[in-house]
Amino acid sequence: MKAADNEAELASVIAHEIAHIAARHGVKQLRQTLLAQGLATAAGVDDSVAVQIGVELALRRPKSRQAEFEADQIGLETLGRAGYAQYSAITFMQKLLKQASPPSFLSTHPATSARISQMKQMINPEFAYNGDGLNERRYQVIVNRLVP
Ligand SMILES: [Zn+2]
Repeated sequence: MKAADNEAELASVIAHEIAHIAARHGVKQLRQTLLAQGLATAAGVDDSVAVQIGVELALRRPKSRQAEFEADQIGLETLGRAGYAQYSAITFMQKLLKQASPPSFLSTHPATSARISQMKQMINPEFAYNGDGLNERRYQVIVNRLVP
């Protein structure tokens, strides 16, 4: 929340993560891992094993390039439909790339530069800079209240 300059940037991250869930990337990755490790049988899989590996995948393993590009695309559409300025997704990622020590969640999100290029091509420049959530002052007042 503090890394974002405005509500639209924060919304872009949430829209991207919602897209991973909507596209079932985690479930697909979990299924592949369970099969690869021989942990899934015809009878199914032990719930506690599935949860343990699911948490491990979510927190530490990089997602595939393809999953990231798909989540970016769906996320941008969601962001635009919600009324936020779509360009905020790009400004946020560019800012993270410039940091000396990028946030840890970026390590599970490969190919940041390529993703930025793709997103630039996906958004309509006529509308990209228009939308809600661009008031930086108001955003910072609220975030400082929530995260002192
Ligand atoms: Zn992602």
